[in-house]
Amino acid sequence: MAENPMLKFVTVPRDMPEKRDAAARRSDFDEIYGEYAREKAEEQASRCSQCGVPYCQSHCPLHNNIPDWLLLTAEGRLREAYEISQATNTFPEICGRICPQDRLCEGNCVIEQSGHGTVTIGSVEKYITDTAWEEGWVQPIRPATERPESVGIIGAGPGGLAAADRLRRAGVQVTVYDRYDRGGGLMTYGIPGFKLEKDVVMKRMDQLQDGGVEFVLNCNVGEDISFDAIRGKHDSVLIATGVYKSRELQAPGSGADGIVRAIDYLTASNRKGFGDDVPEFDSGELDADGKRVVVIGGGDTAMDCVRTAIRQGAESVKCLYRRDRANMPGSQREVANAEEEGVEFVWLSAPRGFRGEEVDGVIVSRMRLGAPDATGRQMPEEIEDADYVEEADMVIMALGFEPEDLPALWGVEGLEVTRWGTIKADFRTHATSLPGVYAAGDIVRGASLVVWAIRDGREAADAMLDYLSASAKVAAE
Ligand code: FAD
Ligand code: SF4
Ligand code: SF4
Repeated sequence: MAENPMLKFVTVPRDMPEKRDAAARRSDFDEIYGEYAREKAEEQASRCSQCGVPYCQSHCPLHNNIPDWLLLTAEGRLREAYEISQATNTFPEICGRICPQDRLCEGNCVIEQSGHGTVTIGSVEKYITDTAWEEGWVQPIRPATERPESVGIIGAGPGGLAAADRLRRAGVQVTVYDRYDRGGGLMTYGIPGFKLEKDVVMKRMDQLQDGGVEFVLNCNVGEDISFDAIRGKHDSVLIATGVYKSRELQAPGSGADGIVRAIDYLTASNRKGFGDDVPEFDSGELDADGKRVVVIGGGDTAMDCVRTAIRQGAESVKCLYRRDRANMPGSQREVANAEEEGVEFVWLSAPRGFRGEEVDGVIVSRMRLGAPDATGRQMPEEIEDADYVEEADMVIMALGFEPEDLPALWGVEGLEVTRWGTIKADFRTHATSLPGVYAAGDIVRGASLVVWAIRDGREAADAMLDYLSASAKVAAE
């Protein structure tokens, strides 16, 4: 009888692809993890115990068929593994790189719970699709038949692109509008290259373009073209504009020079990576080189800022967060990576104000954790008379993002929003209050994850196809 290729978790230890040495990582923006060699990928996939009820799959927002593609990988049947993987995920190589797997698929892998270390699901997913690209298995979309209907998508982030892919596969004429000069949304201009190299995203843009998706870039809807004009041009519209309004801190001195927003800082750095002219970077305003940098915030955006500052050659990089390590929202994996690269975390510290017209220090209150709030999370409380000054030449504010007021910005009546300012949309069909208009991704969920935007975009596309078919039927009657 042939040997079972799976269930090797007892004898084969968990092994991630090689992580580059921290000293080498500090000087470039290349990804920090290497790629598995084929044997290694097969060996790691073979650790899966092929659960009858796979919790990994139920905790993946896309419900990826993980056990099946692990089995096929372990058997060396990579092309079939790729076909199954791409059937549920529009951008598997991107999710394999940047999903917080410890909170999603891998965090719910049963062999982790039995003390053996999770199956390295994300790394195998990345390996399968990177191989598919190398082998030429990823092809431009060629719809079986063309449909006459056209759809306008506002926003070329993962939500908009996932919808574009699905609609185009069904033969719909798709136009994607974006205010930036490149597509990809935060995958291009937010997330740094050391987590997601940019050619990975640009390859997907090319693939969509080659498959007939039309991109209208440098087109800010609401300024260069009205929302109503887009509605007038297309049979259905998807809003996938993300959330970009930075949360501000009102504190004495917060308007000083040298205090910058995380999104501006990261966008400038990513643009430099493309070789663009970036005057605010070249002037030094958004360049951390030689500076004492303080980043305020404890989420993933803050982690990306501290690690970017290290790579730009900052003299020192500190991250201030008002709770402790155990209570920070950012991924523990990213904190560990940042610490290895030389970032210092100052836990239980909150900014009270800023010193200097050109900032030269942050006035910091020391905090302690007090009683839990309604959600059970301990509230930070200030310790009296314990303030001190953290010297800084550059302060990066990474306090999160909120939605812009789209109905007001675009002058649209009848587009309902929630009390948080996100667009109100049905959670299954993603239909908004306007007929034929759908919404997906962060603009509906608030700041979230790429994998959730992909799911929303795919689901919205399916609902739009139903809407287009129903409208065509009514027109024919
Ligand atoms: P976006 O990616 O924001 O795309 C929206 C697009 O709409 C943009 O291209 C924008 O230019 C365009 N747009 C907006 N307004 C207009 C307009 N008026 N006219 C025309 N175009 C417009 N998620 C992860 O899963 N893993 C990570 O590691 C991760 N790291 C992150 C790091 C940072 C710094 C940030 C900020 C976010 C990170 N995220 C991460 C979150 C993730 O990037 C987002 O959840 C995801 O990109 C949301 O997708 P989206 O399509 O809804 O919007
Ligand atoms: Fe895990 Fe994300 Fe891949 Fe789902 S898409 S299997 S959550 S890495
Ligand atoms: Fe395999 Fe872990 Fe998923 Fe079970 S939970 S099927 S062991 S990856």
